[in-house]
Amino acid sequence: MLKNDQLDSWDRENFFHPSTHLAQHARGESPSRVIKTASGVHIEDRDGNKLLDAFAGLYCVNVGYGRPEIAEAIADQAKELAYYHSYVGHGTEASITLSKMILDRAPSNMSKVYFGLGGSDANETNVKLIWYFNNILGRPEKKKIISRWRGYHGSGLVTGSLTGLELFHNKFDLPVEQVIHTEAPYYYRRDDLDQSEEQFVAHCVAELEAQIAREGADTIAAFIGEPVLGTGGIVPPPAGYWAAIQTVLMKHDILLIADEVVTGFGRLGTMFGSDHYGIEADIITIAKGLTSAYAPLSGSIVSSKVWKVLEQGTDESGPIGHGWTYSAHPIGAAAGVANLKLIDELNLVENAGTVGAYLKKTMQDGLSDHANVGDIRGEGMLCAVEFVKDKDNRIFFDAQDKVGPQVSAKLLEQSNVIARAMPQGDILGFAPPFCLTRAEADTVVSATLGAVKAVLG
Ligand code: PMP
Repeated sequence: MLKNDQLDSWDRENFFHPSTHLAQHARGESPSRVIKTASGVHIEDRDGNKLLDAFAGLYCVNVGYGRPEIAEAIADQAKELAYYHSYVGHGTEASITLSKMILDRAPSNMSKVYFGLGGSDANETNVKLIWYFNNILGRPEKKKIISRWRGYHGSGLVTGSLTGLELFHNKFDLPVEQVIHTEAPYYYRRDDLDQSEEQFVAHCVAELEAQIAREGADTIAAFIGEPVLGTGGIVPPPAGYWAAIQTVLMKHDILLIADEVVTGFGRLGTMFGSDHYGIEADIITIAKGLTSAYAPLSGSIVSSKVWKVLEQGTDESGPIGHGWTYSAHPIGAAAGVANLKLIDELNLVENAGTVGAYLKKTMQDGLSDHANVGDIRGEGMLCAVEFVKDKDNRIFFDAQDKVGPQVSAKLLEQSNVIARAMPQGDILGFAPPFCLTRAEADTVVSATLGAVKAVLG
């Protein structure tokens, strides 16, 4: 086995890490941790440190690590047929079975699944399908996509534009001109502290209406949103938000993409976030939880309404000019089939709901009174703690103070618990695997109390 020192220097010399401070990492100023193995909610590095992963990788290892059922399904598939493409009507038993399993679980207006590899390429597909849709319907001007500030939809050219976080735009010349951002449904960060939730929803709706009026409804194709804002801060929407937004979209004939990359397949305690909030999307994006990240696979679930127009388009102009070599890769599909079976067998959607609610409640019981904890929120197996300098006047810390990153680093150092310092604001995010037990939730909460005390007193 290679020595850790050797790996460390190879890593710094050769490996271009995503979402990493490149210069600091190359200089050896940030940690390079080599993960070796994992089981349940724990990962283990090469030095034998066992860490409780309360973020499930990047909220994706939903069934937990080390599941032999999925590993064996992948191995069996690789031995029998590692690859064949899915162009011009080809398929494999795994990809066909998985598309049926997804549609059996999806909202009833959904009709077909297009498979990709990750959330970004799935959203890239969605935008292209919507442009195709409007071209076939003879409305070539209707192309702009509205997304929310703090939304996260990927880091490609269009998807990085849809993402409403400045870090993903700066110096990349994004967003592209077809993308418009609107108010995030982030009640805790509302400008007017006297606003009720209801008034804040009305404000989000009014802003959307004003943008649509300014741009012209005949130029706007779609609205994209995560049922619960994820990377932007783990923010469940205020009551009534989705119903109110959908009324506006319907009025202006604007399609809705529900980006369920994080919420799909159980994270909110329901199969889809759309079920939880009564969202009736035209396209649903799925990735992460589809395979619990045992293999890369994503999908765009397309409604009957969209599908009918796509079919009409190919009747007019031949096969659809959109495909990836690895669309519906059989190994990803085999992982997906085994993963969805496991979720059912172990009742993991229900567990995500009940243990997730317990985690949030225990966190609130332990931390709500702290002078620097402004908000503790969550839904299902998603939870966030937001830190503020002055709680009564809701004054945030300066970004340079890096309070969120300090607490997450302390949590790891003191207790070997991984939570994520969300990229914008001092927000500590939790998104554990669905198999988390109440005892493990207690460990996460007491470790968090310890880290908060160490950093903020
Ligand atoms: N949509 C959402 C809601 C996500 O959270 C993510 C990834 N965090 C993506 C899309 C992009 O997925 P990927 O990183 O697999 O491209």
